[in-house]
Amino acid sequence: MNNKPIKAVLFDMDGVLFNSMPYHAEAWHKVMTAHGFDFSREEAYLHEGRTGSGTINIIFRRELGRDATEQEAHDLYEEKSELFNAFPEAEPMPGAWELLRKVKDEGLTPMIVTGSGQHSLLGRLEHHFPGMFHPELMVTAFDVKYGKPNPEPYLMALKKGNLEKHEAVVVENAPLGVESGHRAGIYTIAVNTGPLDGKVLIQAGADILFPSMTALGDAWDTLHLPDRRPHH
Ligand code: CA
Repeated sequence: MNNKPIKAVLFDMDGVLFNSMPYHAEAWHKVMTAHGFDFSREEAYLHEGRTGSGTINIIFRRELGRDATEQEAHDLYEEKSELFNAFPEAEPMPGAWELLRKVKDEGLTPMIVTGSGQHSLLGRLEHHFPGMFHPELMVTAFDVKYGKPNPEPYLMALKKGNLEKHEAVVVENAPLGVESGHRAGIYTIAVNTGPLDGKVLIQAGADILFPSMTALGDAWDTLHLPDRRPHH
């Protein structure tokens, strides 16, 4: 039974459905420090959702006063990806399956909106969250030009799902992802699954903040979402 004024829940993937961010942060930290750059694991969380070359250019400008060349950006990102891929596959985020079940049982449609472009994505999703997601209702790196924090990925999700912005909510863990959902005009729920101060998620535009996916799942049944339907 659906007691919420929405039709769909738009889930980010890394740091929301899979606990993959510690591996990403470690890989970024190792590669950047190996090349003499100052880059903490925590900073990796602040850049989460940005493209690889976007992150690399920010560090180059800060530390060298210039952009990386295409070759430099390519090589660094390759190194980072190799390190990341050497880690074991990330586990599903604790609480993610329980929340997805509640969403589905309510008759709401769960959708994926991710900056990830892994070709194994669909198989992994179906393996860990069987029957939850439909390929035609996914937005990945292959669909977008700008990516988060641009609102583009979430606007594309609305289009693919044939949804108005008041008919969906976003679930995000990173400041840039929250900004993307917020700028798309969608009610944005932040889950702080990483080491950042939750304040940065509120500052990025989160409408409500939970400390974990488990906490959001526990609160879901009684969660009051504002009714943004026009003429209501
Ligand atoms: Ca994320």
